[in-house]
Amino acid sequence: MSRSVAIIGSGPSGCYLAQALLKAAPDLRVDLVDRLPVPYGLVRYGVAADHQGTKGVIRQFERLFERQGACFVGNVAVGKDVSLDDLREAYDAVVLAAGLSGDRSLGIPGEELQGVCRAGRLTRALYEHPDAEPLPTLGDRIVIMGNGNVAVDILRLLAKSPDELAGSDLGPGPSAWLAGSGIEEIDIVGRSPAAEAKFDAVMIKELAKLEGVTINVVDAGTSDDPEGARKIAVLEALHGHAAGPRRITFRFGLTPVELVGEGGRVREARFRDAGGRTIALPCNAFITAIGFETEGLLPRGELIGSAADREAGVLAPGLYATGWFRRGPRGTIPDNRADAQLLAARVLADLEAMGTALERPGRAAFPQWAAAVCYDGWKRIDAAETASTPEDRCRVKIVSRETMLELALQREEANR
Ligand SMILES: Cc1cc2nc3c(=O)[nH]c(=O)nc-3n(C[C@H](O)[C@H](O)[C@H](O)COP(=O)(O)OP(=O)(O)OC[C@H]3O[C@@H](n4cnc5c(N)ncnc54)[C@H](O)[C@@H]3O)c2cc1C
Repeated sequence: MSRSVAIIGSGPSGCYLAQALLKAAPDLRVDLVDRLPVPYGLVRYGVAADHQGTKGVIRQFERLFERQGACFVGNVAVGKDVSLDDLREAYDAVVLAAGLSGDRSLGIPGEELQGVCRAGRLTRALYEHPDAEPLPTLGDRIVIMGNGNVAVDILRLLAKSPDELAGSDLGPGPSAWLAGSGIEEIDIVGRSPAAEAKFDAVMIKELAKLEGVTINVVDAGTSDDPEGARKIAVLEALHGHAAGPRRITFRFGLTPVELVGEGGRVREARFRDAGGRTIALPCNAFITAIGFETEGLLPRGELIGSAADREAGVLAPGLYATGWFRRGPRGTIPDNRADAQLLAARVLADLEAMGTALERPGRAAFPQWAAAVCYDGWKRIDAAETASTPEDRCRVKIVSRETMLELALQREEANR
């Protein structure tokens, strides 16, 4: 036998960690437990449908299961199907790599109005997460609050014409929803000045390729900081892009103060500018893209101890955290790699320090996991999704968990 590690979550941080652990210690038993029947977390359900190049990282993660011996344990929710305590009892080390799936709220009056929608909820619905709520009704005039990459992703998708989505993996339902949205105007509003906006310049440059929109940038300001000046320059280059009737306006330095409704639905978003003046933007949908927080089954706040422990990813003896779950909702997919490599070194050192202490059983402690989705089960789902795609799509995601499980567990075979 060898030492066993359970990683909770098979998103980028879990996969990078498993890679680093198995590269240094190929005999380790590494299981990636995920509440979904499919691996890769936000690479599948967060990265924009029209950014297939970014999703190419999956090919790298596949090697983990196909060559390095990691085991995928899908459709097992920690905190519901198995407790964290039971995992800690069964494994020599347990790592929380569960990401952050809850949307942060703005904390202003009117957030409960119909038409107010949060980025995580919207992207899960757009990308057909099995637990997603239905796609919301938007209307013709939209305000997006936030100026990070997620806000820009949402802007781009809402602004694209059906033809511009060719080659994506956007499903038929979301594609029809976008095509029939009737959106005429989108304001994208940042709380900070343009120089401090969180988006990457490359995301803004990409908007210059949009075919059906006219783009204006209001009050981009100036900056002495080279990075800030670069952001302003890309915005200024975009200002005046006039390729079609759908209007997009970038606004900065506006603090949201209130959402005003009529008949229960949002009709106006009110902001305060740097001079204390009120700016009102009419809208029938208000989308917040202002970051994520923990949701659901794993009590992040209660687990994490001192700041030094948190920095090292160590929560308690044999219990660790990595990725967005540890750092908060900051950083791109590759950023999770450095984090994972550091933590892998720490976990391996701790396992080494256990010396000849009895090895724990690992997944052998959970015979019920015989009904979990293994990597081969996921590959059956993957094959079904890519088998007969329409000409303009690279994949048609299976939406229902039930259908995924039928394919993965080949229940239909057993029933014959
Ligand atoms: C909308 C959006 C778009 C993005 N686009 C890009 C992009 O284009 N390029 C880029 O580089 N970065 C992008 N990012 C950032 C990138 O997705 C993150 O850096 C990365 O996914 C974080 O990895 P993670 O493994 O920590 O979390 P996640 O990717 O969230 O993975 C967490 C995994 O844990 C599982 N899990 C959660 N709770 C449990 C539980 N209780 N039991 C078992 N499993 C559980 C989840 O199902 C999930 O599979 C985007 C983020 C968002 C939100």
